[in-house]
Amino acid sequence: MRKKMAAGNWKMNGMAESLDEITALAALHQKPTVDILICPPATLLARAAEIEGALKLGGQDCHDMNSGAHTGDISAPMLADAGAEYVIVGHSERRTDHNESSATVRAKTNAAWHTGLTAVVCIGETLAQREAGETNDVLAAQLTASIPQGANGVNTVVAYEPVWAIGTGKTPTLDEIADAHGFIRAHLASRHGQTAANGIRILYGGSVKPDNAEEIFELGNVDGALVGGASLKAEDFTIIVTALEGAD
Ligand code: PEP
Repeated sequence: MRKKMAAGNWKMNGMAESLDEITALAALHQKPTVDILICPPATLLARAAEIEGALKLGGQDCHDMNSGAHTGDISAPMLADAGAEYVIVGHSERRTDHNESSATVRAKTNAAWHTGLTAVVCIGETLAQREAGETNDVLAAQLTASIPQGANGVNTVVAYEPVWAIGTGKTPTLDEIADAHGFIRAHLASRHGQTAANGIRILYGGSVKPDNAEEIFELGNVDGALVGGASLKAEDFTIIVTALEGAD
């Protein structure tokens, strides 16, 4: 069955001294029963990869090409070369700040796959879309356009991240999270087949904290979390990892 995953997205946070948090987390979880993924800024990736332990590393974005004249961008092979096994694509901050369309996200997902990286594909509705009753339509459109044919549990993780819940301290109700994850699983099955869909982990993201992780992890079709703010400190993130390890 699906191995659960606690993923930390550090965003544009982290200096050399922050590597101590990764060292501490690795020491706290020497034989984790879930995958623990840290996505630090690219500047720390290679140094993070030198830290002994069972943690996995990922990038926060990649270009859709392997190399070339793209100043400031980082390719999937470069991330792999620095020690990444995963890459987040389509985070709502990239979709908003960099005008990334789902077609762009799809190209990035393909680039990740061709490099052997697992793509953590983010989808999620805005508050206006939720209030208009459009959540499932938005999720369906993003899933269809962002994930190429051929997705499976090895090459793809889906992160359901309601845009309005990211960094705000607000979360959907437990029923709303369960409904969205159930809808995503069914949609993956309709496009990629039931076997592939059964293997793809679906993470919830958006204001997951030490005090709400446990109840979220009890929900059906929730295979873990993508965590921003609460992943920056080993002390906070270890509570979330431990809650996931204890979930059924
Ligand atoms: C995120 O960055 O993907 C995220 C979910 O952030 P936060 O946990 O801070 O809401």
